[in-house]
Amino acid sequence: MSRFIEAINGVKIPQLGFGVYQIKRDKNGSFEKNINEAIHAGYRHFDTARIYGNEEALGDVISNSGFARKDFFLTSKVWTTDLGYEQTQRAFEKSCKKLNTTYLDMFLLHFAGPHYVESWKALEKLYSEGRIRVIGVANFEIEHFEHLRKTAKIMPMINQIETHPKFQQQKLREYMSQNQILHEAWGPLGQGNKSLFENDTLKTIARSHQKTVGQVVLRWHLNRDTIIIPKSSNPQRIKENMDVFDFNLSDEEMQQIAKLDTGKRSSVDPKGYQVNP
Ligand code: NAD
Repeated sequence: MSRFIEAINGVKIPQLGFGVYQIKRDKNGSFEKNINEAIHAGYRHFDTARIYGNEEALGDVISNSGFARKDFFLTSKVWTTDLGYEQTQRAFEKSCKKLNTTYLDMFLLHFAGPHYVESWKALEKLYSEGRIRVIGVANFEIEHFEHLRKTAKIMPMINQIETHPKFQQQKLREYMSQNQILHEAWGPLGQGNKSLFENDTLKTIARSHQKTVGQVVLRWHLNRDTIIIPKSSNPQRIKENMDVFDFNLSDEEMQQIAKLDTGKRSSVDPKGYQVNP
C-alpha cells in the first residue's frame, strides 16, 4: 500500500520512496539485487542524483524490471558543478540518458550553489516543454527562496531537506507550507544514527505498537505530510520500511516526538552556499 502527496500542479508523488545514495553497482550484482528487492517490496519512487554515480545502474534495473516507465516516479538532481542555464540543460539530458528515459518525474537543484538562479530558469524551461513533471530544489533555506522569488516565473514545488525527529525543520516547514512548497525529507531515519534508534521515547512508542523504531520514525514523517525516501541495503529493512501503513501514532505520541527536536543538523549547513548568484 502507498499513498500520494499532490504537488501544486496536481502531480501525485508517491509519499514513500527509496533513496539510492551510496548504493553502487559492483561485480556481484548487489545494486541490481538491492533495487529489485525494493521494487518487489512495492517501491516505485526512486531518488538518485548525478553525484551518486548510479543513475545508469538505476536506469538499467528499471528498464529490465518488467514494469513500464510510467509506473515509476524518478527523481534526479543537478550537482553544483552543473549550475548555469546551459549547463543545467545539458546535465538534465545526461541524467535522462543514463536513466534511459525521455522525461523525469522530478528534477531538483541539489544545492543553492553559484548561478542557481540561471539553473532555475533552465528547470522552468524544461518544465514548460513537458520534460519534467515536478521542479524543485534541495537544501534551500528561506533566503534562497526569497532571492529566487525576484526572478522566478514558477516557484519551486518541493524542497528536499535533512529532516528527522532530532532535526525537525520547524521554521523552514512553516515557510514552505505558507508558500505551497512540499516538504521532502532526506535522511528520514537520521542516516541510521544510533542516537535516534536508541532513543527511549521512540523505543517505548515502538513497543506499544509492536513496530520498530524505524517504522515509528517513518510513520511520524507520513503524519506530517512529508515525502520520505529511506534507504536500506538490507532486504528485511527494505520491507520493514514499507510496512508503515497499518498503524498510526496518537496526537500525544506525535507531541512526544516533537519534543525530541535538537535543532541541530548532522550535515553541512546549506547557508554556507551564497544567496546571490
Ligand atoms: P536514511 O535516513 O534513509 O538512513 C539510511 C540508513 O539507515 C541505512 O544506511 C541504514 O544504516 C539505516 N536503516 C535503514 N532502514 C533501517 C531500519 N529499518 N532500521 C534500522 N536502520 C535502518 O539516510 P540517507 O540514505 O542519507 O537518506 C535517504 C535518501 O535521501 C538518500 O538515499 C538520498 O537519495 C537522499 N539524500 C539526499 C541528500 C540531499 O542533499 N538532497 C542528502 C542525503 C541523502
